[in-house]
Amino acid sequence: MEFNISTKGFNDIINLTDQVEVIVAKSKIKNGLVLVFVPHQTCAVSVLEYESGLIKDLKEALEKIAPQQADYQHNQKWGDGNGYAHIRASFLKPDLTVPLENGKLVLGTWQQIILIDFDNQPRQRRIVIKITEGQ
Ligand code: ZN
Repeated sequence: MEFNISTKGFNDIINLTDQVEVIVAKSKIKNGLVLVFVPHQTCAVSVLEYESGLIKDLKEALEKIAPQQADYQHNQKWGDGNGYAHIRASFLKPDLTVPLENGKLVLGTWQQIILIDFDNQPRQRRIVIKITEGQ
């Protein structure tokens, strides 16, 4: 199963938790593992307490890890200016696995599932969900 979202790019951070829960509920599977995957090389999925302070803090931390204006071989080769976005995506990964128990995602009180779109333009993103049943 999958769904699509529109992002603004530029480290847009979107809370995916509600959409993932809807898909899990439709599946009727109660126990197992839920894989959230983005098949894109300039965005990532992770967890975050989704509040405005941490959203800004995460963006600032990412700017320190892979600054947007630094020199990247990728930019010289392709001229698309998003070398920083590829590096950030590799650090944060395209996937997240969440346990499913009694029909509910096992997330901590302050853990929300987020997508971060690093790219330097608005994008349409596919989020692929696979649910594996098991105890
Ligand atoms: Zn690129």
